Amino acid sequence: VTSFKDRAVALFGLGGSGLATARALIAGGATVTAWDDSPASVEKAAAESIPTGDLRAADWSGFAALVLAPGVPLTHPALHWTVQAAQAAGVEIIGDIELFCRERRRATRRPPFAAITGTNGKSTTTALLAHLLKVGGRDVQIGGNFGPAILGLEPPKPGRVYVIECSSYQIDLAPSLDPAVGVLLNLSPDHIDRHGTMENYAAVKERLVAGVEAGGTAVIGVDDDWSRAIADRTEAAGKRVARISVRQKLEDGVFLDGADLVESERGRRKFTFSINGIGSLRGAHNAQNAAAAYAAARALGLAPEVIAAGMASFPGLAHRMEQVRTIGNVLFVNDSKATNADAAERALTSFDDIFWIAGGRPKEGGIEPLRPCFPRIRKAYLIGVAADEFAATLGEDVPFEICGTLDVAVARAAEDAASAAAISKLQTESNKLPDAVVLLSPACASFDQYRNFEVRGDAFRDLVNALPEA
Ligand code: ADP
Repeated sequence: VTSFKDRAVALFGLGGSGLATARALIAGGATVTAWDDSPASVEKAAAESIPTGDLRAADWSGFAALVLAPGVPLTHPALHWTVQAAQAAGVEIIGDIELFCRERRRATRRPPFAAITGTNGKSTTTALLAHLLKVGGRDVQIGGNFGPAILGLEPPKPGRVYVIECSSYQIDLAPSLDPAVGVLLNLSPDHIDRHGTMENYAAVKERLVAGVEAGGTAVIGVDDDWSRAIADRTEAAGKRVARISVRQKLEDGVFLDGADLVESERGRRKFTFSINGIGSLRGAHNAQNAAAAYAAARALGLAPEVIAAGMASFPGLAHRMEQVRTIGNVLFVNDSKATNADAAERALTSFDDIFWIAGGRPKEGGIEPLRPCFPRIRKAYLIGVAADEFAATLGEDVPFEICGTLDVAVARAAEDAASAAAISKLQTESNKLPDAVVLLSPACASFDQYRNFEVRGDAFRDLVNALPEA
């Protein structure tokens, strides 16, 4: 990135994305001083000849910008004074997406660039849109908050399109964010901790669609009040808005009608296709992601038929309702990403006849909010430090077994589900059998037993794949 050629830039955060940012800045002729509060990261950067220095002692008059790696909050304790000193000296504070956008603005032919945000569903929508574009023959670079760092992606070339997931933080640090297609899926008060108030949080998210470049499209979910108001304001500001809904029919936009997605224009149905039976897009929340990806792909020039075909072949994301395997009539689903009751609820409402593996490091409130889902659970297999607490909540309402570890839970659940599925097969003569599902949707963090939810999900997948055929 050349926007800081021959100027001095301070960079905080030397994880993978920070290193990619440092390399990009240096390659573009900037003089970088990089720092991280982990000495190991500083060493790693130094080994690559990235100049490092303690930014707490920096003389800010010499710097043109302070770049924060994604994931480094402005309120990072090691950074507090640094940020204040930089701000006091009038030094701008930006992130890697800002550097990408400035570079893109300089290009004679701007590469197509879709940016995706929302409270929930960002990664799924980002991956789905990228998949659709690939099916449509585009050369896709996917990254940002999900996947590789944006500045680690391949440089633009004709036919190449960028699909970038943006956290609110990254939007906050990208004042020039101007995607060709900006997607705002939904807003709910889940993540307001860092932004103080819902108003602030929504205002940050709104910038992603308000910034859509001339001739571009803002794709906005209108199923919550906050996002609906943003859609109206964005349109009033003269942008093209594609509304999406899974709750209501729309005159203009993309909506869910039963199991069909419908693209409509001035009340006329332009294209309709079914998303029923697409395992990776199960549940109303995924219909919202699918509608958004559809609208974004249309805005990027894909034909409806190509999108419909692409949806059907979407493999889904690892650890989010990932369908690992079917043994006999039993489906095994890895939803390790569900680290709280809210996320587990979406999984539990997507199936009946659930053999549920849950537990880990519990969150406040435990699984009490999941009580309405209890009738769908045949039996629970409890692991980790949450086991006793969850057992107490399940009480007499759901049979459970304290399994302790995932290997025991998988073995026990597989056994029980197999016999239950065999019985239901005998009972229902027809071929349309009820699903018996072994579902890992822990409603807990993983840290008591695993490094992170990915490692937990990988362990589940390995255990399931090691089970014998029926
Ligand atoms: P994000 O990247 O925003 O965290 P993901 O796509 O990784 O979202 O999905 C994480 C979890 O959030 C999923 O397992 C699912 O339970 C839930 N989810 C996905 N999409 C939506 C949506 N559109 N609305 C509400 N919840 C969703």
